[in-house]
Amino acid sequence: MSIGILGGGLAGVSLQRFTSRPSEVLEASDRPGGLCRSWGPEGWTFDVGGHILFSKDASVLDTFRGVLGDNLHACRRANQVLYRDRFVKYPFENGLSVLDREEILDCLLGFLENPHPAPANFREWLLHTFGDGLCGKYLLPYNEKIWKVDLATMGLEWVERVPKPPLADVLRSALGIETEGYVHQLNFLYPTRGGIEALVRGFMAHDRAAVATGAEVTGLRRRPDGWEVATASGAARHYERLVVACPVDKAVGWLPDVPDEVRAAAAGLVRNTVRVVLVGACNESLLDKSAVYIPDPTVLPHRVCYMAFFSRHNAPPGCSSLIAEVTARPGSEWDVASDAAVTERVVADLDRIGFVRRGDVVVTEVRNEPYGYPVYDLRHARNQRVLREYFAGLGIDLLGRWGEWDYINMDEVVRRSRALAARLDG
Ligand SMILES: Cc1cc2nc3c(=O)[nH]c(=O)nc-3n(C[C@H](O)[C@H](O)[C@H](O)COP(=O)(O)OP(=O)(O)OC[C@H]3O[C@@H](n4cnc5c(N)ncnc54)[C@H](O)[C@@H]3O)c2cc1C
Repeated sequence: MSIGILGGGLAGVSLQRFTSRPSEVLEASDRPGGLCRSWGPEGWTFDVGGHILFSKDASVLDTFRGVLGDNLHACRRANQVLYRDRFVKYPFENGLSVLDREEILDCLLGFLENPHPAPANFREWLLHTFGDGLCGKYLLPYNEKIWKVDLATMGLEWVERVPKPPLADVLRSALGIETEGYVHQLNFLYPTRGGIEALVRGFMAHDRAAVATGAEVTGLRRRPDGWEVATASGAARHYERLVVACPVDKAVGWLPDVPDEVRAAAAGLVRNTVRVVLVGACNESLLDKSAVYIPDPTVLPHRVCYMAFFSRHNAPPGCSSLIAEVTARPGSEWDVASDAAVTERVVADLDRIGFVRRGDVVVTEVRNEPYGYPVYDLRHARNQRVLREYFAGLGIDLLGRWGEWDYINMDEVVRRSRALAARLDG
């Protein structure tokens, strides 16, 4: 085998599809797909958080279409923000007209007469970009809820991901003139059947697919002709070249004689875990929205996504469902709470805010992902650079959300896989 690809998430399987060199993917779990796996009891399908296909890069969208063929359909976003007792169109600054007049004024004045100086951290950036009104009502409480850290301890490398509104849109939305923000995500694609995992299966439908599952990598040793890879389950494997498409902090632990600076960089990387609770209802009450963002800190999930909105095949006929996303700091209360406790709290909260009546719930299930969201603390850029340089020096490529420890979506993962394949082949 020429290339050993460590990790069988979207990054690993798409790299194997793109490269023409012989390769093998080693995947720790019993099924490839990573964060792009789908689950569910008979008749129900849910993903690890709402997973929709969108991109600014037309060639990546073409790749998605090519891989999924007929099993794909177009959707138009119908996201809302739950602000106090009402739904505000998402992004929040595009739905201002439903707020009370004083609140609208507050948002406009904060946006227009913004006293916040050039930012040095994410909290300051939000205030500088949006002003006090929009920040106080939505952006600060929502971001505190999803990131679970003091926003002043987060850096700025990733903020281009946060949609920024033109002034004209904010004014239009305040006046009740229909506007759309974050427009490259407004229309999206989703597999008709099989949940987002259909994308992974599509990438694996080729002659060179070679994925070993249950192959948890535990050690790496350099050899004169390449690398020896130890797995928990079997004999060592040999490859000329390696790509780490799984968490880079684990990969540091597999290597001997790692310099202290590199170990410290890996140990310094920050992440949140994510727990996803499927809530299935015996009626069609959960079909009219794609997702709801919930800044209210007394409600456990920060976001819910209506799975049967994405595809009617994600719930049985006459039923509908949502998935509730709960992030947590590793080791914190809601990271270690039992599945039953998380489910009970999610259902109770959703019943209280009127999203789903407890008596209508016919199915629940939980998925837990220890690697959910990379968090950009103020040392992130430095830690990332130290790790990139170290692995580059070993001739090992890093790829994907966790190989590179970057907050990237499926489109960017696929774009980077394609670029790496071109380099490996060239
Ligand atoms: C809640 C949520 C919502 C999201 N929504 C969207 C969305 O709407 N649109 C979008 O485009 N993207 C979305 N994403 C992002 C998307 O999930 C990721 O960009 C993509 O799945 C990352 O793929 P990956 O292969 O890089 O990483 P992963 O999917 O994390 O794959 C890593 C793989 O490595 C394996 N592994 C770990 N340890 C080992 C080991 N020791 N040996 C071997 N294998 C190992 C894991 O089992 C896993 O399969 C979302 C992510 C989350 C968490």
